[in-house]
Amino acid sequence: PDLEQLYVHESVENVIPAKAFVDAFSDLPVPAELVGDDEEYDASDGVVTYAPREEFLDAGWVHCARAGYDAFDTEAYAEADVPLTNSSGIHGATVGEVAIGCMLSLARLLHVYRDHQNETEWYTPEYERPFTVENERLCVLGLGTIGEGIATRANGLGMDVDGVRRSDEPVPGVSEIYDPDELHEAISEARFVAITLPHTEETDGLLSTAEFEAMREDSYLVNVARGPIVDEEALVAAIEDGEIAGAALDVFETEPLLEESPLWEMEEVIVMPHKGSATNRYHLDIAELVSENVERYRAGEELRNRVA
Ligand code: NDP
Repeated sequence: PDLEQLYVHESVENVIPAKAFVDAFSDLPVPAELVGDDEEYDASDGVVTYAPREEFLDAGWVHCARAGYDAFDTEAYAEADVPLTNSSGIHGATVGEVAIGCMLSLARLLHVYRDHQNETEWYTPEYERPFTVENERLCVLGLGTIGEGIATRANGLGMDVDGVRRSDEPVPGVSEIYDPDELHEAISEARFVAITLPHTEETDGLLSTAEFEAMREDSYLVNVARGPIVDEEALVAAIEDGEIAGAALDVFETEPLLEESPLWEMEEVIVMPHKGSATNRYHLDIAELVSENVERYRAGEELRNRVA
């Protein structure tokens, strides 16, 4: 099939510098151009975008510049017979490192020392609080690119890693794989539970009161996936009631996190502004994926990361 033009929708600016991203396509056999909401599309156009727009359904192919494509109406794409691809497969190191950094901080209180540094305080925590992550158990929910990225890195730190996914395909760094219906068993012995699941109907609100009760009281939740997978009100209550010890959260039910959220004020919670994938090379990682798909599209081959 023909692909004559690659359009980059300005919404990509949410995550990457749009101009540098367009420049990364200078070697492509088709021209790349930055566009706003006034552009019209036809079957010879490819579109790379962060945000969904109805008019993209007129294009030949649409690429979502995020791994989580839950904002896109996949049924509409299937109906219109327009392939939709996502940016999965590139976040193992970026989001993986953030999750590891969070666990190290929660264990060794780096975030607490920074809080006290802000007050010019030479602070000594309770003797009982700091611990090493070595030999601690990590349960990773969702063992895809990011899950494996966390698992292999956690292995390097001497952690015991198991996880949950629907298929039982082995994953490097993961010693035991549980079925989704064994969730409580999987999380009950873990010192850290890391969420790396896509947000779907099945995973919506997956972690709530019963799950926090099943978790150890000295355990921590790390969510680098999507906010609505966790019942945020139940999480706040679980931390306040001592059902779990704390959390590191890159994602929230509402983003930016609402000013009135109690999470901001909790010492045992690390709040991050959905920057798990943010590095100075992110635009190049996405451009590489898109370029590969441009080649595939033009060659009539199956697209990588097709999700609809
Ligand atoms: P992948 O598709 O590579 O991995 C997702 C994994 O989850 C799959 O391996 C799948 O395995 C498993 N899974 C799916 N549904 C279920 C279920 N119901 N129960 C148990 N396991 C399930 O995606 P990524 O690792 O690249 O990304 C994961 C998510 O992280 C994205 O969907 C996105 O929302 C979020 N994300 C967040 C970022 C951030 O900035 N914080 C950046 C990038 C992504 P199986 O099929 O065997 O079940």
